[in-house]
Parts: sequence; structure tokens; C-alpha cells
Amino acid sequence: MNKNNHSTELMTNSAAQANTIINAKANIATDTAEKTSTKCSDDDIKFMQRAFELAELAEQQNEIPVGAVVVYQGEIIGEGYNQSIMLNDPSAHAEMIAIREAGEHLNNYRLLDCTLYVTLEPCPMCAGLLVHSRIKKLVYGCDDLKTGAAGSVINLIADERFNHQIEMTKVEAQFAKKCSQLLSDFFKRRRKEKKQLKKSFKKTK
Ligand SMILES: [Zn+2]
Repeated sequence: MNKNNHSTELMTNSAAQANTIINAKANIATDTAEKTSTKCSDDDIKFMQRAFELAELAEQQNEIPVGAVVVYQGEIIGEGYNQSIMLNDPSAHAEMIAIREAGEHLNNYRLLDCTLYVTLEPCPMCAGLLVHSRIKKLVYGCDDLKTGAAGSVINLIADERFNHQIEMTKVEAQFAKKCSQLLSDFFKRRRKEKKQLKKSFKKTK
């Protein structure tokens, strides 16, 4: 599978591309500020930190580094990190795994009054899952400019045409940067490894 196709990879090969991304980011920053309903609390940072540790675990296993936790009444009841490659399962995103665990913990398929913390803006699949789960709140790290479904590309979590809307908080810029840095370092490393593999393949030919 080609990990380079993943949405979070920022391809800044040319100045023009870089500008487009910067401009897009500027737009998102404004949009996000408007739709953010609450400010990030100390607890939010604490739980995001755990989500970040899970993202690092994914990274160590060569998975795209995204981590998520579900919190209920101040307690973590579900944790997950990306495992799509390991499990050959395109649905094995961090959010999906954390939500499944939380559902089991609560013995309920509805996660009322729960908050999901995730290091990267959810994709459309996970945003849909958040609506299905009736989760109360989403706190996420960095924007996903290519497939983000909490406002970057589309906003599925606050669409009034659906029967459930989710409150959202975006973490402070410094933490968001940390989350996106983990992703871009990962893709940089993967690209380098791929190049080296190609080189050694040519040599053996
Ligand atoms: Zn997802």
C-alpha cells in the first residue's frame, strides 16, 4: 500500500504548493476559531497528551501516527492508535478503536456525555462514527487539510441536517504543531526509506 497517499502528508515540493497550503491553513484557522465552542482546559491538555503518546506508539509500529482516547466523567475509557496497516483494515483508525473500547466499557453503543481526544482532525468515516455514537465533544490536535471532516474539507460533526451535532475544541497551536510534526516526520522518514529501497533495488538489478 502507498502510505504517501495519506491525507496528512504535506507535499511542499514547489513554492506554489507551499503557498496554497499556507493560504488554506490561514482560512482554516479563521473557520476553526469561529466554530470552536469551548476553550481548551488543563484536563483537555492532559488527555491530549495521552492521545499523543498513543500516536507515538503507532509511529513505533510503522503506522501513521494518530492516537485517540475517549473520556467519560474524567476517566479514560477507551484508547486507540492507527493500526490499519498491521490489521489490513482500512477502518482501524485511532478513533474507531478507542470508540469500540469505550462502547464495551460502558456496555452501550451510545457514548453520551463522552469526549473524544484525537491528535488529528477526524476523517469522514470517523466523523460519521462520532455522529452515530452520539459523542458529546471532540477535541483534536492538528488540521487535516486533505480529508478533515471537522471543518477542513467538510464539516460532518456540526451539520444540522444530521440528528446529532458535536461540540468541538481545537487544542492550542503549540500542541497542534507537535501533533503535525510527528506526522510530517513520519512521512519524511517513510519517503527516505522508500528512496533507499528503490536505490538498492536498482543496484541489485
Ligand atoms: Zn478516521
